[in-house]
Amino acid sequence: MKEIYPKTILNPMKVYNKDLYRRYNMNIFRGCQHGCIYCNSRSNCYGIEEFDNVQVKMNALDLFKKEISGKRRKGIICCGLMSDPYIPLEMELRLFRSILEEIVKNDYGIFIITKSSNIVRDIDLFRKMKFVYILMTLTTVFDELAEKIEPFASKPSERLKAIKKLTENGINVGVAMIPILPFIEDSDENIRNIVNASHICGAKNIFPVFGVKLRDRQRQYYLSKLEKLFPGLKNVYTETYGDQHICYSKNNLSLWNVLKYETKKRNMRIMQHPYDVEFPRYEKEAEQLKLF
Ligand code: SF4
Repeated sequence: MKEIYPKTILNPMKVYNKDLYRRYNMNIFRGCQHGCIYCNSRSNCYGIEEFDNVQVKMNALDLFKKEISGKRRKGIICCGLMSDPYIPLEMELRLFRSILEEIVKNDYGIFIITKSSNIVRDIDLFRKMKFVYILMTLTTVFDELAEKIEPFASKPSERLKAIKKLTENGINVGVAMIPILPFIEDSDENIRNIVNASHICGAKNIFPVFGVKLRDRQRQYYLSKLEKLFPGLKNVYTETYGDQHICYSKNNLSLWNVLKYETKKRNMRIMQHPYDVEFPRYEKEAEQLKLF
């Protein structure tokens, strides 16, 4: 772990509906402890050296308080895009939790992407928020397979239990099938299993990506891991995809058909992008208040 002291913590996100709400991206860590072999955040463009030696933004809470007090519009804080906020370090430091407490005080909303069952620690705070949406990532339901590709994240069985606990507490949860790895996870059966297990635990939406992004040093990292974990698969990837950045599953069409069928059967919704959820109407309410 390395301590860092950045100048800012909240970044406005480019895509937002200015009439309804604002979205801010927030990462309290640089790097991640979960060790997913496909992690896109390892790419050169993000400039995170020593990705597994996590840098902690020690002044995150102070920055957050300062920045949020200067905002004229409320909005949604989005977390988990570049590093998981519920890595083991968070359970020692409780930094993210202290920010969630501020989010409650300031009546903002939160959107979290995670692969950790540690998220259930904060159910008490989520229950006090105006808006919460959790996307739990599941690329397989099998713990043994996940141990290879997402070695230090919670096991899928634990993530499913967490989904159940969250939904039982009235919290909206979707499942992100990101990424469904070609030649490893891109079977019809895997998609059926994930949809079924997610539904049983109360998830309402599924966001799928049937393929994986590979570029520069992250490609090298992924292929070297494949060589060790799945002998022979590195060559299959190289022959199939060459230097392609986005490597879609060759079963893409079949997987989509299975997903559509299985979600329809259970009255679940397929999300078109990770933020394809109904966000609260902060601005509209503010405008209405002004009228009275
Ligand atoms: S949990 Fe997300 S950020 Fe962390 S290693 Fe896995 S893919 Fe990367």
